[in-house]
Amino acid sequence: MYNFFIPSIYSILVIISIFFTLISKPVNVFLLIPSFIGCILFVIFRKLQLNKFSKYQGEFDRKHETINLLTESIRGKKNLLQTLPFKCQRVSFLFNVSQKLIEIIGSAEVLNFLIKTLEELFPQADNILIFDFDKENYSINLVRSFNKTKSIVNEVKGDELDNWVLRHNCSLMIEDLTKEFKFDYLKIEAYIKRGARSFISSPLSIGNKILGVVKIESRNPQIFTLDDSRILRNICDLGAVVLERAELFSHAQNLIIRDSLTSLFVKDYFFKMLKEKIKAAKTDKKMVGVMMLDIDDFKLLNDNYGHAIGDAALRTVAEVLSKVSDVSGNLAARFGGEEFIIYIGDCNKKELLLIAEKIRMEIKRVGLTFRRKKVHFTISLGAVLYPIDGVESISLVDKADNLLYKAKKEGKDQICFTG
Ligand code: GH3
Ligand code: MG
Ligand code: MG
Repeated sequence: MYNFFIPSIYSILVIISIFFTLISKPVNVFLLIPSFIGCILFVIFRKLQLNKFSKYQGEFDRKHETINLLTESIRGKKNLLQTLPFKCQRVSFLFNVSQKLIEIIGSAEVLNFLIKTLEELFPQADNILIFDFDKENYSINLVRSFNKTKSIVNEVKGDELDNWVLRHNCSLMIEDLTKEFKFDYLKIEAYIKRGARSFISSPLSIGNKILGVVKIESRNPQIFTLDDSRILRNICDLGAVVLERAELFSHAQNLIIRDSLTSLFVKDYFFKMLKEKIKAAKTDKKMVGVMMLDIDDFKLLNDNYGHAIGDAALRTVAEVLSKVSDVSGNLAARFGGEEFIIYIGDCNKKELLLIAEKIRMEIKRVGLTFRRKKVHFTISLGAVLYPIDGVESISLVDKADNLLYKAKKEGKDQICFTG
């Protein structure tokens, strides 16, 4: 009111005084001076008023901006509040997963646990695939899968999506494969075979070290959220650390129980296992066999061709024995030097002799290659049967050793057996 009234009255007075000044003849100087001063005062007054207005306008804009920001922040907090219980649930789920994972030692158990956890966490998933990484061939192999729809998973080496995750070592989220420009959906096995359209995938990696790839699929588009992708990554990161630990643990265990040259078991571990096997054979009322074998004239082989060829001969024997011991819980170990020991589960005399003969013949046949020439060597073997030749592991091994000695004495390259 004050802002408008005073300037208005003042303007009218100035206009009237200018008007009378102009119509008075001659021009009245006494009226002209106050009119002129009045005009100047009017301009100054307006200027002050405009300054004040622009100051209020700025303040108003600032307040408006603050209100907008506050409204936006309230909206964000409201959303957060709504999703908070779900997020809390996921954090506690993640915590439980990490607690359980810490307790697992074996790689197979880690993989089993991972697939079960992901199945529980993503009920919307139709398929869950876990691949492990083959470092030597730089490829992945399917090791675990969950199939809600019982559909076929043929891509044991992964498809383009899995290999993309492997190559880039980063997570992948696809809302709808048919609308994704990065991949040709008509070439993706998951789409062709199972009609999968949305995916979340993550590498199982620790830094640059990749251990595998996990992929979760659904036939419905837009089924996974960014949050799903993030939690999958968290679980994969945890899983990778535990898998790495399991591998290190198994490696350390192998270093203790395996011979570094031949990769067969060491003597101590063999004895420990043999005791358990014999105990089990006693309970199951089964016959089991023990064989001791020694390379004939190994010293000569070393002297004639050198230690490297001697080592190669030891590895050749180990390979043949590994093939035999690979079956139904059999065991093979390096007893020391060029002597080996083998346990054969659930066999009779005829079967044991057949295996012994197969080993003797195979080692003799395979031989070694030295300077493009074939070098053949032979072995002697002593074989015993539980419970016929003894009921204790030590007595059985002693007897097998005596029979081996007998085989050597009787001309080498042969098998000696009691009974
Ligand atoms: P026999 O037919 O009676 O068994 O005679 P042999 O020459 O095989 O047996 P001997 O006990 O006289 O010699 C065994 C040799 O095996 C002596 C040792 O230098 C060699 N040897 C032991 N361990 C290793 C190994 O790890 N590598 C190599 N290259 N030679 C080994
Ligand atoms: Mg020997
Ligand atoms: Mg010997």
